[in-house]
Formats: sequence, structure tokens, C-alpha cells
Amino acid sequence: MVSKVTRSPGADSSGIFRRPRLVLKLKRFEDLPAVLDKTKSYPTPVRVVGADYSQTRCVGGDGGTTVDLGALDKILEIGETTVRAQAGVRLGTLVQALAERGLELPLTPEMGQISLGALAVTTLPQASYGAGLAQLSSCVTELKLITPQGKQMVVTERERDLMRVLRSSFGLLGVVHEVVLRLRPQTPVKIDYQNLSLKDFSARFNSTIKAPGALRLHISPFNDRITVERRTLDEMASLTRSGIWQIRNSVMRNVLPAFGSTVGSVLAAPGLRAVMLSGMQKALGSTRGVAIYAHEWMRDMPTEAWKARHTYSLWAFPEAAFPQVLAEYFAFCKAYYKEHRYRCNVVTGASRLHQDRGSLFSVSYTGPMFTLEPSSTGDQGWDDFLIDFNDFASGLGGTPTFNQTRALQVEHVAKAFGERIKLFRALRQRTDPLNRLRNSYFAYLLG
Ligand SMILES: Cc1cc2nc3c(=O)[nH]c(=O)nc-3n(C[C@H](O)[C@H](O)[C@H](O)COP(=O)(O)OP(=O)(O)OC[C@H]3O[C@@H](n4cnc5c(N)ncnc54)[C@H](O)[C@@H]3O)c2cc1C
Repeated sequence: MVSKVTRSPGADSSGIFRRPRLVLKLKRFEDLPAVLDKTKSYPTPVRVVGADYSQTRCVGGDGGTTVDLGALDKILEIGETTVRAQAGVRLGTLVQALAERGLELPLTPEMGQISLGALAVTTLPQASYGAGLAQLSSCVTELKLITPQGKQMVVTERERDLMRVLRSSFGLLGVVHEVVLRLRPQTPVKIDYQNLSLKDFSARFNSTIKAPGALRLHISPFNDRITVERRTLDEMASLTRSGIWQIRNSVMRNVLPAFGSTVGSVLAAPGLRAVMLSGMQKALGSTRGVAIYAHEWMRDMPTEAWKARHTYSLWAFPEAAFPQVLAEYFAFCKAYYKEHRYRCNVVTGASRLHQDRGSLFSVSYTGPMFTLEPSSTGDQGWDDFLIDFNDFASGLGGTPTFNQTRALQVEHVAKAFGERIKLFRALRQRTDPLNRLRNSYFAYLLG
């Protein structure tokens, strides 16, 4: 077998296995069946790791075998409407190769490290342009995977129900080694900003959501500011990159990820932080008519120590109730600060999501939604804040994700997904009766 095995130390100080016993760097997908078959050589659970940028323990080694597919990094075939690539290819690499041919994915996230294997099986909601396509996995039209029994399977979008479950499978139903993704011709995106108070945002909400385009929000509860970023596809737009767009991108690329190590301590003083955030929002608010290609907003996070520097958590809420949810979020943040002297030190993000039933655990499965993404440098108090924020979000009918919602509890999951959890559990038990692919994180949340 052409692979590299490294041995991880065993249990952590709590006595619980969080890390894998083995990390296997696989060079050929043909070796996967043997790995799954040999339980003595490759201890259970067998978990796949992509880029390892998830916000939760969804990879979760648990004293088993972690399979790193990073070496399966070939883009196999670029056509006019689809691209075929191996699971270890990073999205940033793919998007760049497509841009060189005048092509793009229908959705482009801001982070480039995401592996295509993870893209296919996790929940990655993006500010969306229309119904049916609000999660990256909905761009997947074909998957090749190895089942827990070591069998090769090819699934296309013609098998809708199976595809829907696989797109939310987190490595629990099989190991994906190849994907096909839908493409479209590269189209300029016009970007406009509006800088609003909560009152103005609520008053204009209906017209805001009716107008065409994808919506991304930058929210500061303590400054009463919501910057609405509208991205409109416009084939006729000529590309312009105003100075403020460069600044916005530079802040996204350089300042936010580095907050923890550079300006984080300076910004600890609430006054200074407010000045910087509101200055940025004011500047964005006066930006009009920037037009760029989507791949230009993608950035790579620093490869080291990112976890400590920029973290966030994500819940989604029904669109119709979103102004009310925001009002309650502002009140929650202020009350929390009053009681615990903690507030998030990075702007809260949000995206409008159209309904998308392409994956079982899609956060906009039941209808159009808005996400709410409190963000921070992971400073002291953040973990406790999230525990209370989760109860707040669940209480307001929010829907979480398994890879981007931190500190999730089983009751949050049961409330949000109901029958969908039962369906997935039954299928997982049938597909993997020996729990070869299941780790403790999913055993707790999904059974
Ligand atoms: C600072 C920061 C900014 C971010 N910004 C964005 C953003 O702008 N947009 C966005 O969408 N996301 C963003 N993310 C989220 C992030 O992209 C995803 O949560 C995560 O990166 C998924 O990709 P990954 O390759 O890291 O997956 P991993 O964390 O490695 O894996 C995720 C899950 O998928 C399973 N898996 C991985 N590969 C396979 C496979 N081949 N077969 C079967 N199962 C597999 C794993 O076992 C695990 O359960 C951001 C994250 C961070 C830390």
C-alpha cells in the first residue's frame, strides 16, 4: 500500500481519545477497501480528513484511523458544464483552474482550503442567487465512494434520494474519492453596500429580499449597524475594482484571520474596536458599483494556528422571522455583555439562503433562511458565550450544522431536524452495522 502511516499519541489528559491512533496519507483510492477491511491494522473508527478546517469535531479521530486524502489532488476533466476531480483537490485550486478557462461554480465561498470531498458531504451554505442552490453540495452531480464494506459505488443526481442523503453524510456512509461538479460561464458580479440601523433594515426588509441577487450581511449589534452586501450577476457589467473593495478584501484576507496575533489585544478595548468596525462599515456603506468575478473574493486562511485566530458558529433562521431574530440577537448580545462582560470581537456575518432540498441536513431544507454567524478570535469567554447562544438560537427555531455550529447538543439537533434524523440514523445503521465509520461526535448527535 502506497501510503504514509503516522502514530498519534493516545488518550488526552481527560482520558478520552480525541485524536486518531493512526493517520494514513493515502496516495491511491484503490487502497481504501483494504483499510476498511483490516480492523486490526486500522482501528475503528475510520474517519476521513479533508482540509481539517471544520469548526467542530466532525472529523473526530477517537483513537481510530484518520485517512488523509490530500494526495488525491488531480483535476481529472474540465468540460463546459461540469468538472470531474479527486476528493483531495482544494476548492481554491479548482476555482483558479476554472477561472483560467472562463468557467466558475454556481456558488463561490470566501475560503479556498475546503476539500472537494468535504464539499460533497458537509453543510456549506453560501449566499445564494435562487431556489435549489444554497449549499455547495448541491453543485455535486456525481459521487464516487467506497462503502464501509469496501465496495465501490457511483451515484449520480438521477438517484435523487440517495444523493440527498450522501450530500449530508459526513463520511458516515462511505469515503468519497471523486466528484463531478456543475459549472457555468464566468459572470461578473456587481457588488453594492447599504449601511443600515436595525430599524431601517427591518423597515426595508421586504423590498431587500425581493430584489434580485445574493445577500451577505455584516452585523454589529453594539453599534446598531447592519451592512447589506448585495451581489448581482450581470453579464454586461464591466469589471471595476474601487479602492474600498480592495480594502474590504484586504481586511478579509489579512486582518480578520490575523486578529488574534496582531490587533486582537489592541482591539480588546471596546471603544477602539467599535471605531474600527464602524469605520469599516461606513466605508463599505458608501461603496457603489464594484464589479468583479466571484473567484476574486476567495482567500486562503493561514495554514497554521488558524483555529485560535478566527472562529465562528453558524445557525440558520426562517427568512420571514429574520428581522425579529436580529432584534432579539441584539438584545441577547447586550444582555450577555451586561451579565458576563463578554462580547464577540469580530463582526457577525449572515447570508440569505434560498430553499435548497439537495441535502438532507441542508439548513434551508424547509424554506428560505438567513444564517447568523457570531465570530471571534476565540478569546476568553467565547466558548461560554456559544453555549448560551446555542440555547437562544434553538429557542428561536434555528437550524444548526454538524461542521460549522460549535458546542452542539443532541436536543438542538433533534428539535431542528426531527424526522430527518431518524431517517438518516436508520440508513446509517443499515449501511454500517459495525459502526466502522462512526465516531463519538456523531454517535452522540445522531445515534
Ligand atoms: C476561518 C474560517 C473561515 C471559513 N470560511 C468559510 C466560507 O467562507 N464559506 C464556507 O462555506 N465555509 C467556510 N469555512 C468552513 C469550512 O470551509 C468548512 O467547515 C470545512 O472547511 C469543510 O472543509 P474541510 O476540507 O476542511 O473538511 P474537514 O473538516 O476536513 O471535514 C469535514 C467533514 O467531512 C468529512 N469528509 C471530508 N472528506 C471526506 C471524504 N472524501 N469522504 C467522506 N467524508 C469526508 C470529514 O470526515 C468531516 O466529517 C470557514 C472555516 C474557517 C475556519
